[in-house]
Amino acid sequence: MNDLRGLPSVDQLLNHEQVRALIDKYGRPLTLEAVRAALDEVRARFPADPRLPSEDELIAGCQQKLADWLAPTLIPVINASGVILHTNLGRAPLSRAAIRAMEQAAASYNTLEFNLETGRRGSRSLHCESLLRRLTGAEAALVVNNNAAAVLLALSALARRRRVVISRTQLIEIGGGFRIPEVMAQSGARLVEVGTTNRVHRADYEAALQEPAALVMRAHHSNFKLIGFTAEPSLAELVQVAHRHGVPLVDDLGSGTLLDTARFGLPHEPAVAESVAAGADLVTFSGDKLLGGPQAGILVGRAELIAKLKKHPLARAVRADKLQLAALAATLEHYLKDEAEREIPIWRMIAAPQEDLHRRACQWQSALGAGEVVAAQSTIGGGSLPEEVLPTSALALRPPKAGQFAARLRSLNPPVIARIEDDRVLLDPRTVLPEQDGALLAGLRSLL
Ligand SMILES: *Cc1c(COP(=O)(O)O)cnc(C)c1O
Repeated sequence: MNDLRGLPSVDQLLNHEQVRALIDKYGRPLTLEAVRAALDEVRARFPADPRLPSEDELIAGCQQKLADWLAPTLIPVINASGVILHTNLGRAPLSRAAIRAMEQAAASYNTLEFNLETGRRGSRSLHCESLLRRLTGAEAALVVNNNAAAVLLALSALARRRRVVISRTQLIEIGGGFRIPEVMAQSGARLVEVGTTNRVHRADYEAALQEPAALVMRAHHSNFKLIGFTAEPSLAELVQVAHRHGVPLVDDLGSGTLLDTARFGLPHEPAVAESVAAGADLVTFSGDKLLGGPQAGILVGRAELIAKLKKHPLARAVRADKLQLAALAATLEHYLKDEAEREIPIWRMIAAPQEDLHRRACQWQSALGAGEVVAAQSTIGGGSLPEEVLPTSALALRPPKAGQFAARLRSLNPPVIARIEDDRVLLDPRTVLPEQDGALLAGLRSLL
């Protein structure tokens, strides 16, 4: 009859050579916890299961626990889905300069809030401000944690307990729980809806502004398209109406772009400088959508309004950190130096010539000796340019069960995220970083 006294003691295990190696790798407290947990499991099973594991089995169990407990959850993946700004895959990969800037800011002390001339406290909001002013033509700028925070801050600081006029065509929900009416409620602003779901006119705004209001807001449709029997006044018209009633216009551009998307065969996405030029008093947009930088919320506009936002208590709660600011400044510099298309990964992907994509897909095919190269479509994603696609060439595989094969791709190291279309698994070279080609092919070879 087995007896629990046959189990090794905690101390015996800790002194075992293999466990000492685990202590070196994982530290003593965690290894001790794993040893205790492994022994407890055997005791808990006893006497229903009277088999006593060998020492080697116990140690393997400890090792498994330690590996499970410390398994990383934020894992680099290969995005072969063809969705350029994939929110679930972290939106925009950064440029080399942005990564370097983040590394420097992370590794050393810096002038985040320090003025070298006076030796006194400096301003955190200084870092990207002049770059943003130059790029957008706005008087002032402020960077916060993300665009959701930018909108919340603008509404809280400018419209608390007051009326905000917005069209029913723009009461949008974007992914991740951002809904304009709910952000409005959270800020304490009072939502005044005008127009209908499909049409809104200047007169609707005029009527609503007969009573005092804090501001007029416009929100970019982002992830849906208003088509058919529709109407919305232009931004310039809205600015005119708002200003005639003495209130500012806040434009939530969502993605916002600093380059003209029409240059790449895409429809024209409203550019930040255009909103500023049209007279919007405050424009908000994301750092990691079409800007191609780190997560951030950017506000540009009239100096007096930006000053008000900076002073609001919420500004402290949603402020950007040094890593974001470092990466954002480096990203903005690419635009100023007219090298965005070459240096910023998402623009390189958008601008990739079709011949290059075709060539890469053919290279994958011949390296693997499998699949066929097919015409396919990449999408922008990230709530930008819905329904719009860029023609691409993809490697199409036809495994017996596409869903199962896609799951096996996800279990590779690094995981590969593909797209399934008509029972085929498509791999789009547009969103695969060139330096990941080797890892992609090695992973595919192991499955085919
Ligand atoms: C994406 C988006 C937001 C939220 O931006 P985040 O940077 O993701 O917080 C807000 N408004 C609009 C119109 C958007 O498209």
